[in-house]
Amino acid sequence: MAAGSRFDTHTVFNQSPAFENVDLFASDMPLAEAVRANGGGGEAGALSAFGRHWGSAEMLALGRQANENAPRLHTFDAKGFRRDAVEFHPAYHRLMGESIAAGLHASTWTDSGSHAPAPSEVLRAARFYMAAQVETGHLCPLTMTRAALAALAAEPALLAKIAPKVLNRSYDPTFRAWWQKSGMTLGMGMTEKQGGTDVRANTTTATTDGEGYSLVGHKWFLSAPMSDAFLVLAQAPGGLTCFLLPRFLPDGSTNALRLQRLKDKLGNRSNASSEVEFADASAWRVGGEGAGIRTILQMVQLTRLDCALASAGLMRMALAQAVHHCRRRTVSGKPLIDQPMMRAVLADMALDLEGAMALVMRLCRAFDRGADDPREAAYARLLTPATKYWICKAAPAFIYEAMECLGGNGYVEESMLPRLYREAPVNAIWEGSGNVMCLDVLRALKGEPEADVVAELTREIGIALPRSAGADTDEVHARHFVGKLALMASAQALKASAPEVVSGAFIRTRLMHPHGALYGAATLDAQTMQLLLQRVLP
Ligand SMILES: Cc1cc2nc3c(=O)[nH]c(=O)nc-3n(C[C@H](O)[C@H](O)[C@H](O)COP(=O)(O)OP(=O)(O)OC[C@H]3O[C@@H](n4cnc5c(N)ncnc54)[C@H](O)[C@@H]3O)c2cc1C
Repeated sequence: MAAGSRFDTHTVFNQSPAFENVDLFASDMPLAEAVRANGGGGEAGALSAFGRHWGSAEMLALGRQANENAPRLHTFDAKGFRRDAVEFHPAYHRLMGESIAAGLHASTWTDSGSHAPAPSEVLRAARFYMAAQVETGHLCPLTMTRAALAALAAEPALLAKIAPKVLNRSYDPTFRAWWQKSGMTLGMGMTEKQGGTDVRANTTTATTDGEGYSLVGHKWFLSAPMSDAFLVLAQAPGGLTCFLLPRFLPDGSTNALRLQRLKDKLGNRSNASSEVEFADASAWRVGGEGAGIRTILQMVQLTRLDCALASAGLMRMALAQAVHHCRRRTVSGKPLIDQPMMRAVLADMALDLEGAMALVMRLCRAFDRGADDPREAAYARLLTPATKYWICKAAPAFIYEAMECLGGNGYVEESMLPRLYREAPVNAIWEGSGNVMCLDVLRALKGEPEADVVAELTREIGIALPRSAGADTDEVHARHFVGKLALMASAQALKASAPEVVSGAFIRTRLMHPHGALYGAATLDAQTMQLLLQRVLP
């Protein structure tokens, strides 16, 4: 009997203990295997230390506190002077400090701002995935920071100045010029009121006196507004252009970036997402005038990868909580985990997460090797939007089902499941919503190397994809095609990282004989279910 379980009126029993003080790496077999299969096996000890730290009761409490105490915007001071500053809870700052110390914002870059050697992508991804299980809001600025360096590569002189500050693993939340700080973070502003997908319709203007540029306009979503600088798109004389807009000007005064209000969001509450106006804000050009989309796309590929990773992390925490609870909760004299239908539900979910984990880590390997291997580059180009589409859209329903496994306990805030559930949809919406991801896959398919990736997948899995020409008329069928592409790539990745029983079950129940849309309908034999559940939590 747990201490404190005996009250005056009753005794508390048949409740699972809190899911905390867990090694988020060692307890997660699919993760450890996927890391090994994609070249990161040598770091298992360090990843396990990270997993123990992030799975501690202390870190989980920080995640809760950062979301219970949402950031607050201070537009003006008491005397009416502009402040445009956002105040965060100390728990948010602690999480930022921990993640930056671990390199989640930069460990895939070398000191000169080029891509760090393999398996830097896989190792960062493993850490990012574990951190996402604890708190995802603070990962937004870290995702943007690490991805921004890819776009800044278009302006080597600027990159050389910024990279050392970014790469420094020191979190400095003070509100002053970045060159006076020990470390810095970067944000991104593309979305305007009239459109986020259609950035070509941006109305923010950029004029130049021959030296810097001056921006006038707005952004409808600008997350992490306390970042030290932002990559933004604006209309320059030569067309839509990418700029780096700092919070402070070289003379030490604040740049004309006016925070209007913070969004009142469904989830992602620890993270501030602002609406902002630029009133002649100074900025430096990144890449050529008119090359804005091409330049910022270098960044967007990486943030899309992180969306998939974060969603997989949310799914993992939800499933681990469900399995943990069902092992300890008895109904009608039998642990829930031994009730045949609950077993079928949990094992079916576990199989989806196996596929998601294997796929996203395989994709990280492609990012690790793409610079030297055109085939891997083509894999990354094609599978990034497909992976983001499939994993991010699967997460909300998956987490809801995990919540139901905990019954009423899962519906209350202390269980963490409501926070995971509210958090999930944002990864599908931002950085290219579902349809936009499918359109991007159709675009990528027009490339010969990308079409070869599909041909190889088809050969290896032995199942044909519906079609793949990429004509406009295919848009109606694009979701069907992209969903199947992601499943086939997951099956291929599972064959390389997981036991044959797992990849075989995935191929049979997801590709050969697809079952109903709801969990628990796949026909898995008893042995396979046992293995899958054991692999979720040993
Ligand atoms: C919490 C949060 C934080 C964010 N932070 C940032 C940020 O820091 N910086 C930033 O720039 N943006 C940010 N965004 C904005 C986000 O990236 C946009 O909301 C997103 O890109 C979609 O743009 P939109 O909202 O204008 O929707 P729209 O572009 O109007 O799209 C609406 C829907 O139409 C679909 N659609 C679009 N085109 C087509 C088509 N041709 N065929 C079929 N369907 C189509 C889309 O898939 C989507 O479902 C954030 C959003 C959220 C929710």
